[in-house]
Parts: sequence; C-alpha cells; structure tokens
Amino acid sequence: MSKIIIVGGGLAGSLTAIYLAKQGHEVHIIEKRGNPLESQADYIDQVSARAIGVSMTVRGIEAVLAAGIPLDELQACGVEVSGMAFFIKGQPKIRDLPPLDTLKPLSLSRSMFQVLLNKYAHKAKVHYHYLQRCVDVDIERASVITQNQYGEFVNHQGDLLIAADGARSVVRDAFQTHSRRFEFHQSFFKHGYKTLVIPDATEVGLRKDILYFFGMDSGGEFAGRAATIPDGSISFAVCLPYTGKVSLHSEDTQAMKDFFERYYAMIPKHIRESMYQQFMEKPSNDLINVRSSTFHYKNRALLLGDAAHATAPFLGQGMNMALEDAFVLDRLFAEFEGNLTEILPRFTDLRKKEADAMQDMARANYDVLSCSNPVFFMRAKFARYMTKQFPDRYPPDMAEKLYFTSMAYSELRDVQQKQNVWYKIGRMN
Ligand SMILES: Cc1cc2nc3c(=O)[nH]c(=O)nc-3n(C[C@H](O)[C@H](O)[C@H](O)COP(=O)(O)OP(=O)(O)OC[C@H]3O[C@@H](n4cnc5c(N)ncnc54)[C@H](O)[C@@H]3O)c2cc1C
Repeated sequence: MSKIIIVGGGLAGSLTAIYLAKQGHEVHIIEKRGNPLESQADYIDQVSARAIGVSMTVRGIEAVLAAGIPLDELQACGVEVSGMAFFIKGQPKIRDLPPLDTLKPLSLSRSMFQVLLNKYAHKAKVHYHYLQRCVDVDIERASVITQNQYGEFVNHQGDLLIAADGARSVVRDAFQTHSRRFEFHQSFFKHGYKTLVIPDATEVGLRKDILYFFGMDSGGEFAGRAATIPDGSISFAVCLPYTGKVSLHSEDTQAMKDFFERYYAMIPKHIRESMYQQFMEKPSNDLINVRSSTFHYKNRALLLGDAAHATAPFLGQGMNMALEDAFVLDRLFAEFEGNLTEILPRFTDLRKKEADAMQDMARANYDVLSCSNPVFFMRAKFARYMTKQFPDRYPPDMAEKLYFTSMAYSELRDVQQKQNVWYKIGRMN
C-alpha cells in the first residue's frame, strides 16, 4: 500500500482518489476550497462558465461508472443531451446526435457533480484536507507544504505526489525547477470569455436537451455556447476578442447592443437586455492552453487533468479527458500492482499523445464554431451516407465518435484527417 498525496480535489483529483483508495492505498487530497458536502458556495462562481455547466460525453460517463458511481446518481447531476443546434443568421440548424449505444451525453451541473464525487470519495475513505492551499512542493521527496486559512503551515509527505491542481498547477512549477529537460509551454487563446446566466431557462425559449452554438457566421470573431443544467438555469459562454468595438472590454455600448441583437435575435428582448447588462458588468476570463513534455517525474510525481494538459474548451473535452486520465491510471495501478517505476512512465506514454491530439482538435474546432462554413452540414450528411454505404472503409463522423464513444483522441484525429482527404476528393470543399 502506498501513501498518495493528491494536490487538488476538483473533478480529476477526486475521481483519481476514489479509484486509488478502492485499490487499498492511503489517499490524501489537499484542496484549497471548503468541503462541498457542507457548502457549495466555494464551488459556484457565476463569473466563470467553467464553474457552472460542463458537458460530459460517453468517455467521461464511462470513467465515472467504472469507479463504482451509479449511473442514476450521475444522471441526476445533468440534463441528457440529444443534439446540437448551430445558429446561422438567426436560424437554428439542428443536428441530432442519435446515440451509438445506450448512454447519452449530459449537460452537467459542475457543483452537483463535484458533490457526487466527494460523497463517493468519503465513502472510499479518502482523507480530505480542505481549506489547505499547497504553497511549496518537493517532488524529489513527494512532499508538499500547505497553508490553512489561519496562516498555519503543515507538511504532508507520501510515496507519490499527484498534481490535479488545474491549469495553474503549483506542482507543475516544481517540475520546471527540479526536472532536467522538462519542457512546458503555456499560451493564452487569442480570445477570452464571459458567462451570462439566466436563472429560468424556460423564459429563454430554447430546448434544454440541446447544446446551442452561436457565431458560425461571425467570420472567426465570436463563438458562443449555451447549455441548461438541472437547477433550471441556462448559461451562455460568450467568447470574443479582448479589444475592439465588439469585444470583451468594449465601452461602445451601441456596438455591443447591436452584437446581442444580431447573434441572439431568437431570444426574448427582456432576456437579451439582461444578457447585455451582465456582459457589460462582468469581468472577462482567459482561456489557457498548457503543453508539458512529460507527465511524470521519476517514480515520485505525476501530472493529470488540466495540470497536465489544460486546453481551450472548443471541443468540450478537458474534463472528459481528465476523468479518463483517472481511469487509465487506475488500470495501470492494477496491471503493475502499484509499482510506480513501471506505472508513471507508461502513463506519460499513453496520455501525452492523446492530450496533444485532443488539444489539436480543440483549436481546430474554434474555426468550425466561429467561421461560416456552408459545407459543414453537408459534410456531416456526406459522412453518414458514406459510413452507411461503406461501413468497413468509411469511419463515422468524428463528432459522433467523440460524443458517444471512448475512442482514443489520436485515432479520432486520424479519422478527421482521413475524412478531410475524402471531402477534397469528392470536392466537398
Ligand atoms: C469556459 C469553459 C468551459 C468548459 N466546458 C467544458 C465542457 O463542456 N466539457 C469538458 O469536458 N470540459 C470543459 N472545460 C474544461 C474543464 O473545466 C477542465 O478540463 C476540468 O475542470 C479539469 O479538471 P481538473 O480537476 O483537472 O482541474 P480543476 O477543475 O481546475 O480542479 C483543480 C482543483 O485544484 C484546486 N487547487 C488549485 N490550486 C491549488 C493549490 N495550490 N492548493 C490546493 N488546491 C488547489 C482547485 O481548487 C480545484 O478544486 C471547460 C473549461 C472552460 C474554461
């Protein structure tokens, strides 16, 4: 049995803890926020969309179920998604997503899902150290120093240190100072975002089982998403440049009013006005992309989730991949009977190429979501037709595989590349 210290008790950290505790390890989680089972206040931040809703595809669902969490409890945290709608010139183009199997993607309440994970982590006897911020890391000794809300310091030492502390990971900082030849690249996406929340989604008149996308007709200047979660609210993520007439920091009130009228014309006027007011008042958030050359340090430390591969959310896969990281790590622990010298390098080998593929697809998807492309829907139809005609040779549309299977991201990227060649041969673009 190993003593494992996980820094960060968010989605990836908590699921990893459940898996490893169930394998009999002593697992400690260091989390700077409070206990969500007592109060969710720390976990709901209306300013950041990231804090409100998140879409979970079959990959994420399977990773949660494999940890022994019942499907009905997971489904209670979300609304089942049966399609996507893309608004072009105010008109929706609905694309149904018929399930390939029985599981349907979910539009999850992030805080409800967090509570569910913590409930099962407590059941698995995970030791949580809430309201403890990790302030110093010694990866050579797999130890960290934390500071609580009273300013007191505590030292935690384990056999393995797992970084699940998100995009701005302090553990990853220690990789940079201790690890030879550790390469790390952090970049910010050219646009940022704001989140607008309408508490009663029924007033908005959009279907709750559909994920809505806006901005395909914006020439690359805007991408927006709207999703409903079980508390009945709908949140709009509005992704725009930082500067300019129509931008996150615009002071041109008329230009911004025109923007809302143009892209959200389908929404009742009083709701649109509330969205405009929120937009002008709220601060902007950044979209961060992180690439690390390795996810492990000797047999002492491991990066997973956003700490290893944070990405802009244009594919909606950051959390799904983070949960799958936990699943893959669990399988490696079982296969190599806890031998960290075997497990950690294999984790890097397996996950690094998947993370790179997922990030490449996410970046490319921004262009799809924000740029008018008249052949986009023809492509989807073409792919369905070809798959039906040549099931052995023509793979299903990438989006369907992405939403309904756990197919490796690197394979999905290959499918996408192959299909791009077919489209060209068929002169579809
Ligand atoms: C706008 C937006 C929309 C998104 N939508 C989707 C989506 O639809 N689908 C999807 O799959 N992904 C989505 N994502 C990505 C997803 O949010 C992340 O990939 C996911 O949250 C990663 O989980 P994590 O546990 O690795 O990190 P986090 O969720 O960031 O959790 C990190 C945890 O570590 C704690 N922590 C941090 N630093 C310290 C410290 N020093 N000491 C102690 N604790 C610490 C934090 O409090 C937190 O609990 C979206 C992201 C954004 C920005």
